[in-house]
This record gives sequence, C-alpha cells and structure tokens, in this order.
Amino acid sequence: MKFINQWCNIFTSKISIISVHRAPKFSGDRYIRIKFRSMTGDQFHSHIENSPEYTGLNVNQGIERLPSVNTDSVKRFLKHKKKRSLSVQQFVDGILNGDITILSQAVTLIESSKPEHQEIAQEIIVKCLPFSGNSVRIGITGVPGVGKSTFIEAMGKHITSKGNKLAVLAIDPSSERTKGSIMGDKTRMEDLSIDPNAYIRPSPSAGSLGGVARKTRETIVLCEAAGFNHIFIETVGVGQSETAVHSMVDFFLLLMLAGAGDELQGIKRGIMEMADAITINKADGNNIEKAGLARVQYMNALHLFPATDSGWKPKVLTCSAYLKTGITEIWETIDEYLALVKSSGYFQHKRNEQSKFWMYETINEQLRNNFYQNEEIMKLMEESEKKVLKEEISSFVAAKKLLDLYDQIKKNI
Ligand code: GDP
Repeated sequence: MKFINQWCNIFTSKISIISVHRAPKFSGDRYIRIKFRSMTGDQFHSHIENSPEYTGLNVNQGIERLPSVNTDSVKRFLKHKKKRSLSVQQFVDGILNGDITILSQAVTLIESSKPEHQEIAQEIIVKCLPFSGNSVRIGITGVPGVGKSTFIEAMGKHITSKGNKLAVLAIDPSSERTKGSIMGDKTRMEDLSIDPNAYIRPSPSAGSLGGVARKTRETIVLCEAAGFNHIFIETVGVGQSETAVHSMVDFFLLLMLAGAGDELQGIKRGIMEMADAITINKADGNNIEKAGLARVQYMNALHLFPATDSGWKPKVLTCSAYLKTGITEIWETIDEYLALVKSSGYFQHKRNEQSKFWMYETINEQLRNNFYQNEEIMKLMEESEKKVLKEEISSFVAAKKLLDLYDQIKKNI
C-alpha cells in the first residue's frame, strides 16, 4: 500500500488510494483491487482502467486533497501565542507559586538586552525582592576538569533528598567568547536536571563579566522568591569571575585536585584567600593518599593567610564527587559556618555589604554603557585614539575631551 501510494505521488498529486481489496481466492483473480481518489471529472471518465473490459482496477472519482497546513489551527496557535505574553503581576504570581516555566521566562527577560525586556524584568525583580533572601548561597569554583559538575550533582542530590529546593546558576567568563556556555550543559548533571526540586540555569552567553554577574545576582532574587532555599553559583576557577561570585554568596568553596605537583600554584593565591573551605576532589582509588597529603599542604598554606573578618577558620577537606564520599562532611562544614556567622551577625553584615557593592557595580556598568555606546562618543573616541597613537595629543587630554563631550551631550538631553 505504501509503495503504491508513493508511486501515485510520483506521477500525479491528484491521485490517492482510498482502499485496497485483495481479490477473493475462489475468483481466480491474481490481482488486488485498488480504489483511487482525486481524479478530475474528465480524467475519471476517460480513464483506461474504467473501460468495461478492464477488471483489474476500479477507479472512482475522488475528492479534493486537504491542504497540508490547517490554516484554522495556525490562526488558533498564533492567537494563543500572543496571549501568552504575561503581565508583570502574572510573572510575579507564577514565580511565587514556584512555576519553573514562568521563572525561566522571567530569567530570560533578565538576560535580554532589549530595553523593553529589561524594564519588565526590573519590575518583576522589585516585586519579588520582599520574598527573597531566604536561602543559603554557595559559590563553587575550581579549574575545568576538577569535578565541579560531578560535585554539584552529588551535593545537590544530598540537599534535595533532605526536602530542600536547589537552584544551580553559573557565571562563565568564557561564554562571551565561545558564544555558548561551557557550563551550560545540563547533561553533565543528569540526575539533578530531572530532579523536580532542582533548577539548573546555564550561564548567560552574552555580555561583559560585570553584566553577566549582575544578571546572575538578579536571577538569585527570582529563584529565592520561587522557593529555592539553596543556591549554587558555579564558576570556572581561572581568576576572572571569582570576585564577582564571592560578592554574591554566603559561602565560597574551592575545589582542588591532588597530585598535580603544583598544588599551591595551580590556582591564584587571591582565590584561595577568598575560600571558606577547600575540598580536594577525586579522593578515591590510588588518589586517596595523595589527597590526604595535599590536604595537609593546603592546611599549612591557609595558616599563613591573615585571619578572616568572620572569625571563621577556613577548612580543608577531601571528597570523591564520583563515589559521593565526603559530601556529608562538606555539608556539615557549611552548616557549622552558617551557625557561626548567623550568631555573630556577620552573615547579615556580609549580605548588606554585598548589596551595597552591587548597587555601585550596577551604577558603574550603566554609566560605562551609556558612555561607550553613545554614537557621538564612539566617533570622537576613534579619532582621539588615532591622535593619541600618533602622539598628537596626550592620553589625558583625549580623555578629558571625551568626557567634556559626554557632559555636553547630557546637558542637551
Ligand atoms: P568540571 O569541568 O570541573 O565541571 O568537571 P566534571 O565534573 O565535568 O568532571 C571532569 C572529569 O572528572 C569527569 O570525567 C568526571 O567523571 C571526573 N570526576 C569528577 N569527580 C570525580 C571524582 O570524585 N573521582 C574521580 N575519579 N573522577 C571524578
């Protein structure tokens, strides 16, 4: 039947088969009877196979073939699609009800560079702010391959198994270059990505580090309003985004590897200084001993660092994210830290400082964007750059001219 249909389609689109009858066995007829449709009137009457002598096939007049696209359905779909752009209040209600689809749509607005999207996003954030802040924010960093995703999967399952809700966000400084987040691959966290109590959001793939970090911070607000009481922020330990992450989390965890021979050089000293705990991952198999040794080395190294403002002494632990060993101990360490800083008031103090930091960061980012994206400035910038390179004017004079022009533009607005 399929073959005959294909055959018909090759010769004319106006024929299609409506039924096939196998000739009764006793009739001695060796052929099957096939009924066609969609013949035009003339073709139907003049068709050779309709002559009285011909008994093999029976050709009936058919009906017009239906169009392959149902225009009514298309209209209904477009109408429905238009309706789906939600109001700010619908976004907020959806987020507060823990609706992941609406949360994701709101995060997409945060990440959008379109001014109209930004405007809605800011309104949503303002309305969600009173419902945010009730989570534990944990930053996780380490060089590529150290096992961050494996660790987040193991720790994440540990957290959700206790009835908590976890959001995993990422800041990926390389995504701007690669136009795709290396940390955006959800398949790396197979179990967590299908856990109903987990929400994984890859790093925004465009924008400056400052911009991406601000968007991540705003996403935290929405996730908290949606009821996520644990937030992980993952970043690659290559020294660019750690400061940004550090300024938006309560606890900063550095993952390290043992046995590479360069334990203390592999990661910048500044990043180690920011860490509230260092965990040596892949402490399994032949690596257990080396991990223990590395742990002692890191403990000694941390002793040399100045005391922290919180009064907390950073800990060094070992774990195997792969075998899920040492995970509980890390969780207990985080709990211990939180108990200390919450009782001393440092927890709130740090969050206040972070809010202040982000206020200034946002102002700086906005001012920079306004300045550098102004067309007149861009034009003069190009000319000034050339003149500076030819040593026709000094850098300072060029900068002053540009800033004066910007002042002038502002006054004329
Ligand atoms: P990321 O780039 O830091 O996110 O690292 P991944 O989580 O993708 O892990 C990199 C590789 O290390 C993968 O092949 C993992 O299976 C492996 N890995 C991660 N954690 C462990 C561990 O605890 N033990 C061992 N033996 N391998 C691990």
